Amino acid sequence: MTAATLSDVLPAAAQDGYAIAGLVVLGWEDALAYVQAGVETGLPIILQAGPGCRKHTPVPVLGKMFRHLADQADVPVVCHIDHGYSIDECVEGIEHGFTSVMFDGSKLPISQNIDTTAAIVEKAHDAGVSVEGEVGFVGYAQGASSAATDPGEAERFDREAGADALAVSIGNTHLQTDKSAVIDFSRLREIEAATSIPLVLHGASGIPGELRREIASTSRVAKFNVGTELRMAFGQALRRSVNADKAVFDRVALLSPTVDAVKTEAVRVIREIGRP
Ligand SMILES: [Zn+2]
Repeated sequence: MTAATLSDVLPAAAQDGYAIAGLVVLGWEDALAYVQAGVETGLPIILQAGPGCRKHTPVPVLGKMFRHLADQADVPVVCHIDHGYSIDECVEGIEHGFTSVMFDGSKLPISQNIDTTAAIVEKAHDAGVSVEGEVGFVGYAQGASSAATDPGEAERFDREAGADALAVSIGNTHLQTDKSAVIDFSRLREIEAATSIPLVLHGASGIPGELRREIASTSRVAKFNVGTELRMAFGQALRRSVNADKAVFDRVALLSPTVDAVKTEAVRVIREIGRP
């Protein structure tokens, strides 16, 4: 299977009441675990390289790694840049094998957000690459607070930017370690009524599994970004591994047990929201 784009996998999910997991990658072990989880479930996945990942490992390396993993898998694998904050960051991804980019213009005035997203869409679509945008602002636990998505701005973004998916802020928050999100369903319904684009929820670790399932099956939310709960599984597995035998110092030996631990959690996440 070759690498896929958001426009290959999200429209059917949005229409048929399921969603695809956007899985936050920080290195080789979690990326491998996610692709193994996709293969085991037989469902598409989205591998995401966010700002932290790109700070740690150069984008050309990540592009090659993601595409190599996608080529080995028999399910669609979207190779996605998460939270690109400039045209240059998105173009770097497009030039290095990513099949999808997110431009995060959520802190910009809406006209500037739309214009910049549209400029990236033009370059991306020419290269066969999909684009996710954001309207409203999804805040961070112990950080910047959220600004809920305005349905009128979402409508204008959908009409003018030409993006393939839209991230919205409806009670979801990044980096939540407990499942305490309160989702504003009436705002979600207003956004759905005003737009026709597949919707994305960032910060899905803070949303309980059964609520994720309910949102996926009853709305046009077609992509849930999950990072924190998978990073917690990785950290706990690595700590167990490091503490298990004080004589072990080899990096590969220490890291190897994290793959199965992360894969188990990823399988659960993918199935929870995935095509029944
Ligand atoms: Zn995000």
